[in-house]
Amino acid sequence: MKELHDAIMADGYGIGSDIVKVDMFLNHRLDTKLLNAMGREFYNYFKSKNVDTILTIEASGIALAIATATAFGEIPVVFAKKHPHEELDKIKEKGEDYTASVYSFTHKNNNVITVKKRYLEKGSNVLVIDDFLANGEAAEGMINILKQAECKVAGIGIGVEKGFQPGGKHLRNFGYDVKSLAIIDAIDNGNLVLANDN
Ligand code: 5GP
Repeated sequence: MKELHDAIMADGYGIGSDIVKVDMFLNHRLDTKLLNAMGREFYNYFKSKNVDTILTIEASGIALAIATATAFGEIPVVFAKKHPHEELDKIKEKGEDYTASVYSFTHKNNNVITVKKRYLEKGSNVLVIDDFLANGEAAEGMINILKQAECKVAGIGIGVEKGFQPGGKHLRNFGYDVKSLAIIDAIDNGNLVLANDN
């Protein structure tokens, strides 16, 4: 997507060999014009899929999820919450939540992600949205929760996929329709190398 590619080239940068920073428009300061354009792009790609709900994960997926939900005609957004792994037993005891275990690429720790059961209606047709795709842990955790809730996965919409990490390949191999608006092929001395086919 050209606007996103332009923003990445203007303000994105890499740290080390695998961290991409896009705080200027997606992760700290939010470029609402760009976000809305990204939401419309997801709508155009997934519009035939009868999406009725968006699922994302806190915190940085929420802005893109809202922009996407707006493009779909103001459908609801549900966001998975993150808790430290030590809280798993307490959460399960209550029985109110769907849970999945997710290893955080950015924080290098395990989280439990939860969604209250009553917010995911059985049979819903859900589009999973996230800002980044790296190893696919967050997306797989959300898919796990959707399976527990007996919802359908309409597709997976990603802002920035790091093509040099395996998440995108895994999810596509599982048969999911993954649409990434930008794919970064490599980090070269802090410079981001974009794949030019999307
Ligand atoms: P995954 O679960 O696919 O390994 O990682 C995706 C999640 O980790 C996203 O929710 C995103 O917030 C975070 N993430 C992974 N890699 C990066 C990165 O290079 N930059 C930023 N800003 N976030 C990332």
